[in-house]
Amino acid sequence: MVKILRPYLFWILLIFLSVGYFYPAVGLLALICMLAPVILAPFKGRFWCGNCCPRGSFYDEVMAKLSPQKPIPKVFRSSFMRITALLTLISVFTIQMIYAWGDLSAMGLVFLRIIFITTLVGIGLGLLYHHRTWCAFCPMGTLASWLSSKRSKPLQVSANCVNCKLCTKACPFALEPYNAKGTDTGFLHGDCLKCNRCSTLGKV
Ligand code: SF4
Ligand code: SF4
Repeated sequence: MVKILRPYLFWILLIFLSVGYFYPAVGLLALICMLAPVILAPFKGRFWCGNCCPRGSFYDEVMAKLSPQKPIPKVFRSSFMRITALLTLISVFTIQMIYAWGDLSAMGLVFLRIIFITTLVGIGLGLLYHHRTWCAFCPMGTLASWLSSKRSKPLQVSANCVNCKLCTKACPFALEPYNAKGTDTGFLHGDCLKCNRCSTLGKV
């Protein structure tokens, strides 16, 4: 079911921004998408990012067609970049929310502004590098990655793996499932989006 809906979820983002333009209080619904990846992370890793996030769907379904698909520069995956993005988001969000507190429209506008601007940043990076570049340091994805635990289901890599590395080519984050072949635990990585793009190749 999730896989069937995945390609269409980006419409939620577009409708959310369009309706929010006229009714800013709608922006408060963004709380769902901000909390869900973090709440799910201890059990399912970054499953939300790979299968349920409307913005992730937008990057996969729309930006992937426009992106040059270059490798995501390492700096965007660094702890420095991730912590900077997280602290910036928390600071901007807190300051704006203090001024908006008590007024539902103004509070909704805080969410809308942040989502609109960060989506634009993601579009710019997608046009320059790779469609999922934003997701390498998105604050919610970072928190989900940190909270991913060994309880999330690992990918089982086939013992017949021939190291063709097609799984890495299919992976939006260029992760290396083939490196876990023949292990008991399979492939477990905090940044794995659980999107199964690699496993549907039949190589893992
Ligand atoms: S990293 Fe952020 S934008 Fe990307 S899919 Fe996850 S929550 Fe959505
Ligand atoms: S390793 Fe496989 S399941 Fe994980 S993000 Fe990459 S393609 Fe998706």
